[in-house]
Amino acid sequence: MPVPVDLCIDARWIVPIEPEGALEHHSLVVDRARIVAVVPTASGDRDFSARKRVALPAHVLLPGLVNAHTHAAMSLMRGIADDVALKPWLEKHIWPREGRFVSPEFVHDGTLLAAGEMLRGGITCCADQYFFPDAAARAYRRSGMRAMIGLPVLDFPTAYASDCDGYLQAGLAARDAWKHEPKLAFALAPHAPYTVGDASWEKIVVYARQLDLPIQTHLQETREELEQSLASIAMSPLARLDRLGATGPAFIAVHCVHLAESDIEVLAAQSCQVVHCPTSNLKLASGIAPIARLKARGVNVALGSDGAASNNRMDLFSEARLASLVAKVMAGDASALPAATVVRMATLGGATALGLDAEIGSLVPGKQADAIAVDLGSFEHLPCYDPISQLLHVAGRDQVSDVWIAGEQLVAARSFSSLDSTELAALARLWQDRLQ
Ligand SMILES: [Zn+2]
Repeated sequence: MPVPVDLCIDARWIVPIEPEGALEHHSLVVDRARIVAVVPTASGDRDFSARKRVALPAHVLLPGLVNAHTHAAMSLMRGIADDVALKPWLEKHIWPREGRFVSPEFVHDGTLLAAGEMLRGGITCCADQYFFPDAAARAYRRSGMRAMIGLPVLDFPTAYASDCDGYLQAGLAARDAWKHEPKLAFALAPHAPYTVGDASWEKIVVYARQLDLPIQTHLQETREELEQSLASIAMSPLARLDRLGATGPAFIAVHCVHLAESDIEVLAAQSCQVVHCPTSNLKLASGIAPIARLKARGVNVALGSDGAASNNRMDLFSEARLASLVAKVMAGDASALPAATVVRMATLGGATALGLDAEIGSLVPGKQADAIAVDLGSFEHLPCYDPISQLLHVAGRDQVSDVWIAGEQLVAARSFSSLDSTELAALARLWQDRLQ
């Protein structure tokens, strides 16, 4: 007797990530939000009777992409200040506008716009950090997207809070309100070592340990950040955070562009997580992170888009391709970061960085059914000798046809079931009129 299940997706190829490689003419079998099996389509037909069956005759099915670092609501500032380095970009363009405009309404609308962009681009989970996390949580719940919401901490006042205690209080209240939402997770998100002092870091470390929350922070993004720290305290920002007890497997270091050899030692020894944001690092002329060296030391690396104000898109396909290309140039070695490695970074690498790898990141039985289909049927994507190479070097987010999160289809043939593209465009225009 065939086993009754909710859903069976029959694909030309499945790239499950675990194990590595592409399976031809296989099916993903899903029941009650979770993956039941990955089987050859012929035996899937025989062994399972699916209430719904989806045929993907020219598609690759793979785990949903994980955008391990973004500031989703900054989508409303997409393209507002290009061609500026990080310091003046923050001080002259971003922080003044945030001071004037950021509110729960701004964060809700910007996060909804970003969730739409990410979902239709094949991103099923992101790590977000921005003000008013409660408003972000509302937007994620409406979109159906999975998210790890970073609770921001700064040592200076903003429209959201006035000091470290104020930020922590507001953030932890938002977490208390949403902690039972199954697709939401939380992290503490001190902005950076240079915007958060030792006393605040010490409090953050205590809360992180007590509440079992990861810490995500921007780290050693620019040469100036590293040099100023070396000049003033004779150690790198990472060495300082290590001394304050912040490092460990739940420490998520974003950027890591400028690392001393001793920093790589600390990241490896403490099993820290690194998020690589190549577009943002290139666009702000920060540099190129030494990803091949980190990988060689066994450090887990994920990919992030950063906010749309410094990218200007939240597109993991472009991050993945760029990560592969810049790593080859950095290493002077065309074999650095091959396609399979980068596709794994964009999926399981991200899930691992966020501590969610038991639930998402690969298509294996027992995990949540978060999957995306990429259509390789058009002539621009042919011939196709290797679907994993095609995913990295040829396909883009526009080829993402279908998206499932926890077995629920949120995008079908590029149309949303949870969101409305016309409404998203209207929200973007409304805020553009205000911010201009
Ligand atoms: Zn960032």
